[in-house]
Amino acid sequence: MHMKKIVIRINGKHVNYEHTNSTKLISLQQWQLCLKKGIIHTAKVEQGYYNKQRKFSLNFFFAIFFGTLSSNFCLAQSITSDRKNSQVDEKSICATLEPDEEWEIEFAEKIKQYKENLLNRKTAVTYTVPVIVHILHSGVPVGTGENISAKQVASQMLVLNNDFAGNLTGTPAVFNSVNAGNIGIEFCLALKDQKGNLLPEPGIDRIDWYSKGWDDPGSINNISSLQPYFNNVVKPATIWDPVKYINIWVVDLNGLNLTGFAFFPAGVSNNFGASASTIETVNNSGIVMNYKAFGTIEAATFPYYDLGHITSHEMGHFLGLRHMWGDSNCGTDYCNDTPPAKQANNGCNSHPYNIGVCSGNTTGEMFMNHMDYSYDKCKSLFTKEQAIRMQTVMATGTYRKFLGTHGLCTSNSVGIQTSCCENSSNTFHVYPIPASEFIEFNVNNISNASYSILNGLGQQVLVGKIADSKKIDISSLRQGIYFICITYEGSYNLAKFLVE
Ligand SMILES: [Zn+2]
Repeated sequence: MHMKKIVIRINGKHVNYEHTNSTKLISLQQWQLCLKKGIIHTAKVEQGYYNKQRKFSLNFFFAIFFGTLSSNFCLAQSITSDRKNSQVDEKSICATLEPDEEWEIEFAEKIKQYKENLLNRKTAVTYTVPVIVHILHSGVPVGTGENISAKQVASQMLVLNNDFAGNLTGTPAVFNSVNAGNIGIEFCLALKDQKGNLLPEPGIDRIDWYSKGWDDPGSINNISSLQPYFNNVVKPATIWDPVKYINIWVVDLNGLNLTGFAFFPAGVSNNFGASASTIETVNNSGIVMNYKAFGTIEAATFPYYDLGHITSHEMGHFLGLRHMWGDSNCGTDYCNDTPPAKQANNGCNSHPYNIGVCSGNTTGEMFMNHMDYSYDKCKSLFTKEQAIRMQTVMATGTYRKFLGTHGLCTSNSVGIQTSCCENSSNTFHVYPIPASEFIEFNVNNISNASYSILNGLGQQVLVGKIADSKKIDISSLRQGIYFICITYEGSYNLAKFLVE
């Protein structure tokens, strides 16, 4: 017998179940017609999903009394309550695939270089990077179900920035010395779209999957279907240039009862880690989040993960962080300041927890780290080594290193110079690292070429012509990250440098 999936929309929500009749995608209008005809007497469902055992579950309450079938799209079915899913399965939290050893070896080399530069730094670098949130919905009104409101998006941004600013309390004192505090990465809702137009809702791109004829993401109930759906259907059609924006897709993942997943960063060279399917490409770079685990208000109702910290967890992966337990028994996350952990933690443990269970663990496990699976309310820190990994990715990652340089976090159009970032065909290196009085670089035959220097917001702060010495006086610049664009013979060359 052929079992087929049926999607029914009730008050904007989706109910998925299998039926042996012919498959039909039923629109809200059709559903209402069924109701009107009296074929369905009452339908009242808040939200539901299949779990891995193929049992249909309802999160809150249910009451369905269907009448007799008399149309091929009006179905009669009774659904019983199943609350087993209220137990959180650790495998449901995050579906990010961790990269292989080969990737780590190359990344370790970048970290080493970063640390050597860091020794000379007096202050941490702060990035301000634009985020675009693609909200995938079924045509329901804004603020309904998965078509979450701008307020809910804003609530997530607040948490993300708080987590990356190190504003959380609750870290046991034994970990104070390794607590990173401020990571130096801030997130803003992009104010402009890819054409430079101001967005009606900052940082938000609403996409009706139903009108595009795509499958219902909420109906994905097999983990092996997850990546193909996003990599082959959703992302290539909706991604914004990952060099300029961090893409976050907010969708219904309730078929898998999953909170989210991300891709690890591609490296500085194009083939860096390219053999691994775990590494992003220009067509899939970004984070996918369940709308119920995104933000802290309204539809953010994922059990135990409704305080927005899973987005920080996925952002951690996006910036090169691994799980605390290294995805194996007492495995490594390649950070020396996170104690080894036996496995993913769930719930909220009491510190100290599992001292000595893994060899070398003398403090207990750091279950309150964002890269564990503890409940949202128990999360409190990233460590210094984790911060270094993230800063290294921001400095070297193919789709990270120019984030925040395109003026997308400011509506001020005066002085913003983005043509270099958009058109640069070459990159080069600037010395010394860090710089304070002047910079030099390794490009030949560019005497008398023009240059412009941009700050971290993409605003032009210095312009001039390059002298024969190829030295540029930058003594007027304050501490921070800058970009220099050199234009000559119609080509654009872009490089980043640090002023201490
Ligand atoms: Zn994860």
